[in-house]
Amino acid sequence: MLDKQQGARLANLWDDVKAAKMSEAERLLYRSNLLGSDKRITNYGGGNTSAKVMEKDPLTGETAEVLWVKGSGGDVGTIKMDGFATLYMDKLRAMKGIYRGVEFEDEMVGYLPHCTFNLNPRAASIDTPLHAYVPKTHVDHMHPDAIIAVAASKNSKELTKRIFGDEIGWLPWKRPGYELGLWLEKYCLENPKARGVVLESHGLFTWGDTAKQAYETTIEIINRAIAWFEAENTAPAFGGEAKPVLATSERVAIARKLMPVIRGLISAEEKKVGHFDDSTAVLDFVTSTNLEPLAALGTSCPDHFLRTKIRPLVVDFDPTQPDVEKTLAGLPEAIAAYRADYARYYERCKRADSPAMRDPNAVVYLVPGVGMITFAKDKATARISGEFYVNAINVMRGASGVSTYVGLPEQEAFDIEYWLLEEAKLQRMPKPKSLAGRIALVTGGAGGIGKATASRLMQEGACVVLADIDEAALETAQSELAARYGKDFVRSVSMNVTSEAAVESGFGDALLAFGGLDILVSNAGLASSAAIEDTTLALWNKNIDILATGYFLVSREAFRIFRSQKAGGNVVFVASKNGLAASPGASAYCTAKAAEIHLARCLALEGASAQIRVNVVNPDAVLRGSKIWSGEWKEQRAAAYKMDVDDLEAHYRERSMLKLSVVPEDIAEAIYFLASDMSAKSTGNIVNVDAGNAQSFTR
Ligand SMILES: [Zn+2]
Repeated sequence: MLDKQQGARLANLWDDVKAAKMSEAERLLYRSNLLGSDKRITNYGGGNTSAKVMEKDPLTGETAEVLWVKGSGGDVGTIKMDGFATLYMDKLRAMKGIYRGVEFEDEMVGYLPHCTFNLNPRAASIDTPLHAYVPKTHVDHMHPDAIIAVAASKNSKELTKRIFGDEIGWLPWKRPGYELGLWLEKYCLENPKARGVVLESHGLFTWGDTAKQAYETTIEIINRAIAWFEAENTAPAFGGEAKPVLATSERVAIARKLMPVIRGLISAEEKKVGHFDDSTAVLDFVTSTNLEPLAALGTSCPDHFLRTKIRPLVVDFDPTQPDVEKTLAGLPEAIAAYRADYARYYERCKRADSPAMRDPNAVVYLVPGVGMITFAKDKATARISGEFYVNAINVMRGASGVSTYVGLPEQEAFDIEYWLLEEAKLQRMPKPKSLAGRIALVTGGAGGIGKATASRLMQEGACVVLADIDEAALETAQSELAARYGKDFVRSVSMNVTSEAAVESGFGDALLAFGGLDILVSNAGLASSAAIEDTTLALWNKNIDILATGYFLVSREAFRIFRSQKAGGNVVFVASKNGLAASPGASAYCTAKAAEIHLARCLALEGASAQIRVNVVNPDAVLRGSKIWSGEWKEQRAAAYKMDVDDLEAHYRERSMLKLSVVPEDIAEAIYFLASDMSAKSTGNIVNVDAGNAQSFTR
């Protein structure tokens, strides 16, 4: 926010022509999306907006004043119409009559559903009274970095006055809830000319008579803070640079080594997914003189630390004398110390009715000279936690540059983290899917079986890296899966499985994308057909290279990661019926497939003591969507059986014992079974998915 790159003012994006055609509620949506489109205005999921609108009561037909306000759990940037809760204002006002005082403010949340207008199922958030009781039609509550930098300064009241005069007021820290709503109302009644108020250690409230006025006031007030910091905060950030920034390639290489080891150490209870950020804002902080003391103070805005935990873990790494092995060796102790420290914080602050201690591991890992690694239960949460910590860095940069930065008092922070209302929200979350937090790499990921497998694993919550040699197909597959399951869950890497260097760099990219690996599906393949006397050495080598050597190279890389991660592992080979049963005119292919199957058995034996399982799926004649079943091979097989290519599928179906066609989804189902805990006690196995073929019965 405050460096050159981010120093630019916020633009006023309001479009009168667009807004003129909208209803009042639509203008609220429009304003919300505009505000949420810039992370400097508010963090993801943070802040809320509201409008008080006259509506026709569906039962009486009379006009009623209705509060439209962002509902629980939404994000103003991406909210849609159904993300707003709607409540009768007269009923919200009537709640004052039953309020028993601040000790009982949490019980007021239970009355909010009684105020629902028009049977709207969207739950009202804890911030609803804050909007209801501000006696203004349009109200914005944002968490702008520049304002929180004021709010988290030791002399925040005085700074607010200095920057905004009487236009913007100031209220001391108060946990959001019913009581704060009453404080805001009182403030507005006593200061009718004020245009907004800064909440200490928290954020900003602004308001207006129209949607446009509220929006423009919010932008103007934040811009004024940005401009003020630009003028006043001229000292080097965070006490100046103390350590060098390593080159990009070195940063990436170090992150790739650290991420799986950290992940293994913190995933005992629940598998975590990682995110790496080495943006300028992060690097400025992790190379600075004041990194350790500022990091120890913890984040300030409640929204920030709910996602990031109060404190990050500063990894012991010296970029002036890089020694990654030493850092790796010290990680178990550093992480154990963090957990012990968190447990002490819990013990110090817990109350009689506090929920049990949650995961004591750090979310944010700061690596001097390298960047920031975040870990959470899924990729989106890890990424957003990183974004939040960047917000926190911006806040510390502003506050420590013009004043003394202050974190929230520990007990206040604890009371928010272990708030019973927050706990209830967590309890309402759906049960995690069977592969939540798992990371898979699928070779041949852009083809029929590969893509179906990726889809099946993602459906169960896994993150998937698609690896394929066909870059155009990769791009299509990635965007297709991203559209279905969300962008955060899928990445792709271009990989020729026969190249040692390409395999190593592809797995490295996967580590950087998600922080580790749990599942390898080795599926990249080809098929060929030729009588032995016509099999050229080149054709023989091609089969061996892709099917035998390719499977070896990717397995070896996966094993290396599994061993550094120390959290087990899972390998599934897609082999073939022809690995067990000989087929005429395909000796190179059959022999290479047999090598795969035996490699799987050897790896099952070697991996067992480290809880690494290795199993095989044998498909047969999966024609649909297959790249190896297009072109030559299909024609060759049709010629071998003396039939038309279009009759091949029917031929294979009739040849099978069950008289069924095998499709990619059938193979994906078997792979999912072997990759999941459903088969936790199975290794060295072969599952045939071939609609029945006596020749390939295992024995
Ligand atoms: Zn807030």
